[in-house]
Amino acid sequence: IPAKTPGELDAMQAAGEIVGRALQAVKAEVRPGMTTLDLNEIAEAVIRDAGAIPTFLGYQGFPGSICASVNEVIVHGIPSKDVVLEEGDLVSVDCGATFDGWVGDSAWSFGVGELDDDVIALNEATEWVLMEGLKAMVPGNRLTDVSHALEVATRKAEQKFDVQLGIVDGYGGHGIGRTMHEDPYLANEGKPNRGPRIQEGSVLAIEPMLTLGTVDSAVLEDDWTVVTLDGSYAAHWEHTVAATAGGPRILTPRR
Ligand code: MG
Ligand code: MG
Repeated sequence: IPAKTPGELDAMQAAGEIVGRALQAVKAEVRPGMTTLDLNEIAEAVIRDAGAIPTFLGYQGFPGSICASVNEVIVHGIPSKDVVLEEGDLVSVDCGATFDGWVGDSAWSFGVGELDDDVIALNEATEWVLMEGLKAMVPGNRLTDVSHALEVATRKAEQKFDVQLGIVDGYGGHGIGRTMHEDPYLANEGKPNRGPRIQEGSVLAIEPMLTLGTVDSAVLEDDWTVVTLDGSYAAHWEHTVAATAGGPRILTPRR
């Protein structure tokens, strides 16, 4: 997996910190009655105020600066004035910013008001799986060591959070650098010790997508929105992570 220099990692983190601030602003302001288009405007303002470009806007024709995926929507929800948030909704916000030619990509899920207990378990489990899985992002490992770590963490999380989890088939993380989606594709499960070697300076966007039910999904007629086939809730957590001699380095930190 191609390596970035320490200076390039610093530049990527500058982009990633803008993403972190945009996500924090959205979470701080979300209320029942707001629309996902409102969330989009909050995030886009933070990105533009920082002198960055919202990476998602226009990406393969995508019309928003964030993906806003509510409840049974897994990823790629289009921000809309018609999607009005209610108490108990689980919102997954995915966001990217391009700054000084480098891209940061990060996502997190949070509740609008109070969530049901099983949805809290899903969300806390997905965060935990991300943080456990990214520990495999160290020089000398191979690509699917990260995939395997995510899968093992998911199965452990079922015990830890007392919840049954589905790992969404066919979606995963990716290389990232001067563009958002670069090779290689990173599956969220699989056998270890396969694929390209992780070097000092390799960067991956690591992004578990877990459900309270199925592993199967469908894309709606808008050609973007990915939903669980059985309508079960889904959560999505993502960080852009570099492998360094000192261990995994999160390039999209949230304060
Ligand atoms: Mg993302
Ligand atoms: Mg990503």
